[in-house]
Amino acid sequence: MSQPEAQGTGACGINCMVCGLMRQGKCSPCGAGTEAQAQAKLAAQLRLMGSVCPILQCAVAKKIDYCSASCEVYPCRHFMSGPYPLSSAYLEMQVRRRGQNKPAAPSAPSRGHGDKGTLH
Ligand code: SF4
Ligand code: SF4
Repeated sequence: MSQPEAQGTGACGINCMVCGLMRQGKCSPCGAGTEAQAQAKLAAQLRLMGSVCPILQCAVAKKIDYCSASCEVYPCRHFMSGPYPLSSAYLEMQVRRRGQNKPAAPSAPSRGHGDKGTLH
């Protein structure tokens, strides 16, 4: 279960509440994969762009609040394939410090067809 103070933080870990695009009304917060906010964001992405963020979609499907905190295969290929939302250097640091040898595959194939590069 996500903590109340984290509301508005996307499943990927990006804090939408401090993003200027959100504050200027140009984007809506993503939310944790276990929150209704995430479902609303996926619906908005589909309506406005015709595709959804595969990270957010996967987290919702797996009932994962935040990928880094709760998913055993983080950082999976949804992250490592980039380009958004985190840099390869940051992700490689996560892999190294978690003692992993290589990024893990998502445990279930994504139904997403979104290109993360177009969702920000
Ligand atoms: S990658 Fe972007 S669209 Fe996907 S959950 Fe993170 S902030 Fe939201
Ligand atoms: S498989 Fe990847 S995108 Fe899906 S919940 Fe785990 S870390 Fe997040």
